[in-house]
Amino acid sequence: MPISTPPPRVLGVAVPSPLRRLFDYRPAGAPPPGGWAPGLRVRVPFGRREVVGVVMECRERSELPLAELRPVAACLDAAPLPADWLWLCRFTARYYQHSLGDTLHQAMPVLLRQGRALEGRTRERWQLTAAGRDAPPESLSRAPRQAELLAMLAQHPHGLAAQAILAQSFSRDQLRALAAKGLVASREEPLTARSRPDADQLLAEPAPALPLNREQATALAALHERLEAYHPCLLEGVTGSGKTEVYLQLIEAVVGRGRQALVLVPEIGLTPQTLARFRKRFRVPVVALHSGLTDHERLDAWEAAASGRAPIVIGTRSAIFTPLARPGAIIVDEEHDGSYKQQDGLRYHARDLAVARAHHHGIPLLLGSATPSLESLAKAHSGEWRHLPLTRRATRHAPARLELIDLRGRPRQGGLIPPVLDAIRETLGAGHQVLVFINRRGFAPTLACHACGWLAECDACDARMTLHRQPPLLACHHCDRRRALPNSCPQCGSIDLRPLGSGTERTEETLAGLFPKVPVHRIDRDSTRRRDAFEQALAEVRRGEPCLLVGTQMLAKGHHLPHVTLVVVVNADAGLYASDFRALEQSAQLLVQVAGRAGRAAHPGRVLVQTMHPDDPHLRLLAERGYAALAEQLLAERRAAALPPFRFLALLRLESAREEAAGELARRAAAALRGWLAERESAVECLGPVPAPMERRQGRYHLQVMLSAERRSALHEACAWLTAWLEAAPEARRTRWSLDIDPQTL
Ligand code: ADP
Ligand code: ZN
Ligand code: ZN
Repeated sequence: MPISTPPPRVLGVAVPSPLRRLFDYRPAGAPPPGGWAPGLRVRVPFGRREVVGVVMECRERSELPLAELRPVAACLDAAPLPADWLWLCRFTARYYQHSLGDTLHQAMPVLLRQGRALEGRTRERWQLTAAGRDAPPESLSRAPRQAELLAMLAQHPHGLAAQAILAQSFSRDQLRALAAKGLVASREEPLTARSRPDADQLLAEPAPALPLNREQATALAALHERLEAYHPCLLEGVTGSGKTEVYLQLIEAVVGRGRQALVLVPEIGLTPQTLARFRKRFRVPVVALHSGLTDHERLDAWEAAASGRAPIVIGTRSAIFTPLARPGAIIVDEEHDGSYKQQDGLRYHARDLAVARAHHHGIPLLLGSATPSLESLAKAHSGEWRHLPLTRRATRHAPARLELIDLRGRPRQGGLIPPVLDAIRETLGAGHQVLVFINRRGFAPTLACHACGWLAECDACDARMTLHRQPPLLACHHCDRRRALPNSCPQCGSIDLRPLGSGTERTEETLAGLFPKVPVHRIDRDSTRRRDAFEQALAEVRRGEPCLLVGTQMLAKGHHLPHVTLVVVVNADAGLYASDFRALEQSAQLLVQVAGRAGRAAHPGRVLVQTMHPDDPHLRLLAERGYAALAEQLLAERRAAALPPFRFLALLRLESAREEAAGELARRAAAALRGWLAERESAVECLGPVPAPMERRQGRYHLQVMLSAERRSALHEACAWLTAWLEAAPEARRTRWSLDIDPQTL
């Protein structure tokens, strides 16, 4: 920028606040080297605090007299934050009607939020000393890991980044021990865009690409046709059909052209297994963004992606906000997965943002799933997106069929009926493994009095408390309230209190009693609170000895369980008659995912689905003709009922500790909106207010107003008007409210 440009008189700054507007400040202090520009972080006074905001506009005017503007306290960046990232944040804030300041804040790494500089960071690099190079191999015979570490460093004369070393499961203690012996030393080197990637030299010969089968090759060829343009594709293939192999070969092509690939995986899918598979395949480093990273590592990864040093970035939902210097493709694995939608604060959907982002960059977008969302299927059917089917398992085994098992009038043990227990016995006898899927953790869904019918209910929610045995207590899974087990019924005093129904703990206990010689592994949120407990159990299961796995959806997704040949679904009915219009779609997806665990390796599998409704038409369609047939049926029903994806929804949620307060605001907001819509003869419909499905939750009352429209633009106009009305309404300050665009649950 020429030096003669005078500085702007006003900076419009987005600050972390729920208010949907910029705040004006006067530039002050030394301007950054390139001059004032949008995208620079500044420290500014805000109320009585100082906060980190981002300059969004450089202007000559303000609505306030210039003399009243407060000066910025400091500029924190030498250069603006990445332009693609700023674009995405602006888009997200506009689309989800969220404050831009808060969007930017949430989309940046914690250290940047705190004002840490992005430039001038260093990296710790370890190298052998002269003594280390000459050390005789037997000198460390008592410390074999240290000897291995020394040998690894010996192969890297330029040294290795500390992070790359730790990624190979060496520890800081081992580095320190070698340093104390004078065999290795570290130095801090400045990080620049040209720094070597952290892990590159570590990789031996990468694993070769597999020769593709015909369908995979057709899919990849379709992707290759348009690598330089927006090209949305839905890769629909059953579990094990080789979708990941297609992702890997697309990434190879993208990286080969000097571009970067961004891969999104569901929360539960970013396992060491998945990462290992990606890392083994490429000579370039794969940067993973997961919850285990420290703030420093997260900033490093962000910077590596923004500078282009990281060619492959893989992460969960929030990784969609990773800046990319040379974007080449975006891949979304298990695109239907619920974890892509953030359910509080900034309620974005990472898959939908991936679509917007790929469109903006003009790059391919690959969405993969065995059970695509109806939204994506509708786009694929209409031809708006390309549909790439993989119908066969890459390893040539037919996917297991669902067998519906009638639960009615049968005695149950731990939720399981005799013929299902027989099938389990047979499978274990044949030396195979069994997975029992049950969607409820705890011992039993609740505790009941057999004398008077009392049920253990939560004081703060319209919900029953779950009975746990390990440790024994009643817990509400909605608000986390806990209560000691009563000795007698609080209502009638009877001591005949019994568990009602079965949860994972009870099924585990029953199976352990029935099959005492076989290990039973329970996998749910309670049993895996320790970070590595899950991986340990899985490692044991992978060894292949006969065993029983009892688990919730944590088990259903992503994990490769080659020795499981029987899958039992304890109860398929939860989603069949639920009020939420997506419940059927979601439970079908879950059933297919669970079924996909069976018979992945050499043995064909069986999937037994227990139900009280074996004649339910949707369930039968799924069992007899599969997910695609059910999805087609559900799409027809959604069209007839004017529901997404054929209509667009937004949900205004209101909550208050006082029932009347929330109700009053909800009625006034809905009435004001209806007036505005009528005046403009808008086709947007406004429904409600109505109580939320669980009206009382955590001691607060929840209501909602639904907006529905055939055109997205009309819906957005109405939402913008509504948020402006709510921000201005004085009574809205005492009631918490939020707007959910494209809500996933009602
Ligand atoms: P998905 O991602 O659809 O579940 P994967 O890509 O994980 O499927 O493939 C399932 C299994 O089949 C993996 O073990 C993979 O190595 C193997 N596989 C995939 N493609 C091929 C191929 N073309 N030839 C042989 N094996 C393949
Ligand atoms: Zn009682
Ligand atoms: Zn509760």
